[in-house]
Amino acid sequence: MNRRNSRTVYLRGLIELSNICRKDCLYCGIRCSNRKIERYELPEAQVLELSQYALDSGYGSVVLQGGERCDSNYVERISALVYKIKHLTSDRTSLPLGITLSLGEQSREVYREWFNSGADRYLLRIEASNPELYRKIHPSGNDAEIKMHSYDRRIEALEDLKSAGYITGSGMMIALPYQKMGDLERDLDFLASMDVDMVGMGPYIPHRDTPLGRLSLGMKPEGVPPDDGDFVSYTREQRMALSLEMIRRLRERMPQINIAAATALEVLSEDGKAQAVLSGANVIMPNITTSAMRRNYQLYEGKSEVKDDAESTRLKLERQMERIGVKIGWFDIGNPGKFS
Ligand code: SAH
Repeated sequence: MNRRNSRTVYLRGLIELSNICRKDCLYCGIRCSNRKIERYELPEAQVLELSQYALDSGYGSVVLQGGERCDSNYVERISALVYKIKHLTSDRTSLPLGITLSLGEQSREVYREWFNSGADRYLLRIEASNPELYRKIHPSGNDAEIKMHSYDRRIEALEDLKSAGYITGSGMMIALPYQKMGDLERDLDFLASMDVDMVGMGPYIPHRDTPLGRLSLGMKPEGVPPDDGDFVSYTREQRMALSLEMIRRLRERMPQINIAAATALEVLSEDGKAQAVLSGANVIMPNITTSAMRRNYQLYEGKSEVKDDAESTRLKLERQMERIGVKIGWFDIGNPGKFS
């Protein structure tokens, strides 16, 4: 039997809190300039209901993900929400839910406040560790309406998360336009040098309502750097192969960390998550967001699970893992260091 066949994966129920965002990332479907989507924020009661479902069903943890917002009302709502989720109880387990936040760049004070309210982990991808590539895929310059990007600020935010006490995760997109093999090497070095506890990285998937997506799909782009000969377009097969290769290499290099099987992999292959697990991923984040809301949270096109509900997602996952002989760590928070 393959040594990997005795492995365990841990689950986080993914809740897509809100698609309202102050940023305008050139690749992302919920960027603030995309007027084609309806903006929403899940009401607190609904998030608590979904979290209760995750707790009762043995997911061990939830991830609260959303667009980046920083108004003080929002910050307070998140604090209250985190506190309430942490204090949910269930007759099926005595352990509280693990809480991962993925809510973008915030001030050091906000990170501390959310940590003190009960959040355990925070995911903030560097997106591209090469500062030049980072600049090409994020808007910079002056626009009073849109929060601009700074690579240095991103690094600072990651440092702030670590010092606030979070189990800290980062990651990047793989097979981005303009990305070279050397950039991916650099990404692995970056994750090691930041000594991250968790990684979420996955293939870039073009979205036609974004400038970078239009460029990737051969449509007329606006607001992206002109093709100065640096533009690379990867096939689906290349994107899949590169993503799995990155997971394999990272797992060799960082044996103890948590590596998530990116949902974006499923756009490329139906058993994308299973392949990621076989390559070394040990965390899966089934989407438990209410079906009706999912269509407005398309970071990329063809996002899987948009039509599924939580229960069918769960059954599908169980079957997939059974097929590859990997156990699911039900009722386990699944902190780093448990990879076996
Ligand atoms: N606002 C939060 C959450 C962002 S969404 C934050 O800034 O951290 C989570 C991740 O989806 C992003 O970090 C990005 O890496 C990924 N993503 C966005 N658009 C994508 C696309 N077109 N293809 C693949 N991944 C994408």
